[in-house]
Amino acid sequence: MYIAIVGAGLAGLICARQLQEQGNHVVVYEKNGEISGRMSTRQTELGGFDYGAQYFTASSENFKKAIVAWRKAGWVSAWDGKLVSLENGEVKPADRSAERLKQRYVAVPGMSALGQQLAQGLDIRTEQLVKRIEAHGDQWLLTVGSDAVPIDASAGPFDAVILAVPAAQAIPLLKAAPKLATQAEQARFAPCWALMLGFQDSLDLGYDGAWVQSSRLAWIARDASKQQRRPGEHWVALASAAWSIEHFDDDVERAKEKLLKAFHDATGSQVQPIYATIHRWRFAQATQPIPGECLWDGRQRVGACGDWFAAGLEGGGRVENAYLSGLAMAESLRLAVH
Ligand SMILES: Cc1cc2nc3c(=O)[nH]c(=O)nc-3n(C[C@H](O)[C@H](O)[C@H](O)COP(=O)(O)OP(=O)(O)OC[C@H]3O[C@@H](n4cnc5c(N)ncnc54)[C@H](O)[C@@H]3O)c2cc1C
Repeated sequence: MYIAIVGAGLAGLICARQLQEQGNHVVVYEKNGEISGRMSTRQTELGGFDYGAQYFTASSENFKKAIVAWRKAGWVSAWDGKLVSLENGEVKPADRSAERLKQRYVAVPGMSALGQQLAQGLDIRTEQLVKRIEAHGDQWLLTVGSDAVPIDASAGPFDAVILAVPAAQAIPLLKAAPKLATQAEQARFAPCWALMLGFQDSLDLGYDGAWVQSSRLAWIARDASKQQRRPGEHWVALASAAWSIEHFDDDVERAKEKLLKAFHDATGSQVQPIYATIHRWRFAQATQPIPGECLWDGRQRVGACGDWFAAGLEGGGRVENAYLSGLAMAESLRLAVH
């Protein structure tokens, strides 16, 4: 079968690998120049910053197995950074809920490296925004736009299309499959402002990451405490969902200033950074996932997967949800054609 996958985040890449291993011809379309989606690393003159997913944990046997294989291959490492809780500059022990006691993992040498490893051997077309998918008989044609080319191109025909993108980005593409679109509408995402800070010298805070209370920030992490990172004092600070929603339309410079102040207040350090940049994620985390593992219309051969599916876990919006959903999507397609 000829299969198009829209989105080269973890869900899309896992699905693509499975389907290609089963002998299908798979093409992955990614709108950005880089792959890995929200498992991203921003490359700067100071080194990389993981400004999307910070780490991942595993509950399911399938994801645990994948992590064992990835560790063996040298693609991921355990992250044993010292984590605390911060409240108005006061350092407290992190709460010991079951979720927070789980082993944390990171990709090496940066979060985006996992996607780059998984992409080996796949046909991935970057800087290709899929604008439309249209059914022609029992096949699909894609309309694809690229900044480099003034007119849109047509791609296909494909026997099946998988949308491995956040729900809100899947819905406009699902005009030909309104039932799937209605289900996708149940998922909810929250945005997130992510601040990246580089300092000349160590801040000597005595911890590597913190959940932040009573602040515009929810989380801060010292990137260099993760394995195989370039040495240096690099911090990523993520705004809370509530603050990110309220300040979604803020001017970039203003948001940066406010979050830098919050970083100073939370850590009690007044040292000024030598590097500061900010990124706004429109669809950062699926706060309300939908039940099930993926969406699949076997008659039309169109489906959707991603971190907005609970996939048997408590809650959604995590790397593990994306992995399990991508895997389940490939399995649904395999079962449908055999
Ligand atoms: C700031 C932040 C912090 C996070 N922290 C954690 C954490 O600590 N632990 C954890 O487990 N998870 C965390 N997450 C969530 C985690 O990153 C995601 O759950 C996971 O990466 C989602 O993978 P995905 O493949 O479902 O989607 P994505 O990674 O979003 O992949 C979708 C891809 O589709 C592309 N795309 C979209 N529309 C189109 C189109 N029309 N045409 C072509 N391409 C398109 C996008 O560019 C993207 O590359 C965090 C996320 C953010 C943003």
